[in-house]
Amino acid sequence: MNRRQTSGTSSSPARCRYLVSFLLSCAFLPSAAAQTCGSQGVAVQVLGSGGPELQDKRASSSYLGWENGQARVVMDAGGGSALRFGESGAQMSQLEVLLFTHFHVDHSADFPALIKSSWFEDRKRPLPIYGPPGNDFMPSTIEFVSDFFGEEHGAYRYLSELFVPGEEGSYKMQPHNVVASSTPVAVFRRGDLSASAVRVLHGAVPALAWRVEVGGKIIVFSGDTNGEGEGLVRLAMNADLFIAHNAVPEGAVGIERRLHMPPSVIGQIAEDAKVKRLVLSHRMLRTLGKEDQTQAEIKKRYLGPVAFANDLDCFPVR
Ligand SMILES: [Zn+2]
Repeated sequence: MNRRQTSGTSSSPARCRYLVSFLLSCAFLPSAAAQTCGSQGVAVQVLGSGGPELQDKRASSSYLGWENGQARVVMDAGGGSALRFGESGAQMSQLEVLLFTHFHVDHSADFPALIKSSWFEDRKRPLPIYGPPGNDFMPSTIEFVSDFFGEEHGAYRYLSELFVPGEEGSYKMQPHNVVASSTPVAVFRRGDLSASAVRVLHGAVPALAWRVEVGGKIIVFSGDTNGEGEGLVRLAMNADLFIAHNAVPEGAVGIERRLHMPPSVIGQIAEDAKVKRLVLSHRMLRTLGKEDQTQAEIKKRYLGPVAFANDLDCFPVR
């Protein structure tokens, strides 16, 4: 049976038009027309503002870059974020590129859900995917994609045939490992969209921070990092929007501190990089409720505007 027929998506508009019984239900269906974030200019929509804990009642880490109503770039795909992607009104067929900071579960678990959903859209172009290289603990970006969709050993190898170029409903994923240092490296460019990265410290996990330039605006994503080294400041220099991860409170010690940066470090980086606006995301039970303390620590070092992210928040970049 033709896969397109099984989806039923191509015939639903006709049903809406001609079947009275469907009119009411169709009227309540969210659609791309409901999308309002980034309809003009550049904006970042938060698809996941939480960490790994489900009790924070937030999707895990993910962000969507909009330009003039087009979804252009997704940064990370933590658990729950694929639902938020749908709620945003975005289409996978619009995306130019998918970027990963690292492959912890809370940054990558919804990747196969995004890809499977995209099969019901009319994407023909390849989808470039960039992320870190691997080590003994973590897969590289190429391995990560292959671990899901590889023909022989992929967990979802039943879908491997869907990603053969030229087949109906198929497109090719193009994963790349980004070997970066503390000096920003240019990774991707298409039209007015470009991305560069630095390596950041996040325990033993290969991790990147990303600088996305789109429509003349600069958006920087810290990803998860303890903030050590000069790379993130260099990457974030003069950013219009800096999205930093507020995973630990001030005074954190031990493994928490070795993996994540406290508010004082975030504030210092924002100040040193002269960013125009700071958004705090990756909010966890240990930081939720401590916003006043967090803001106070940041204000000791950085005097620009600070916002705390919630799922589906839209941050226009001006
Ligand atoms: Zn994380």
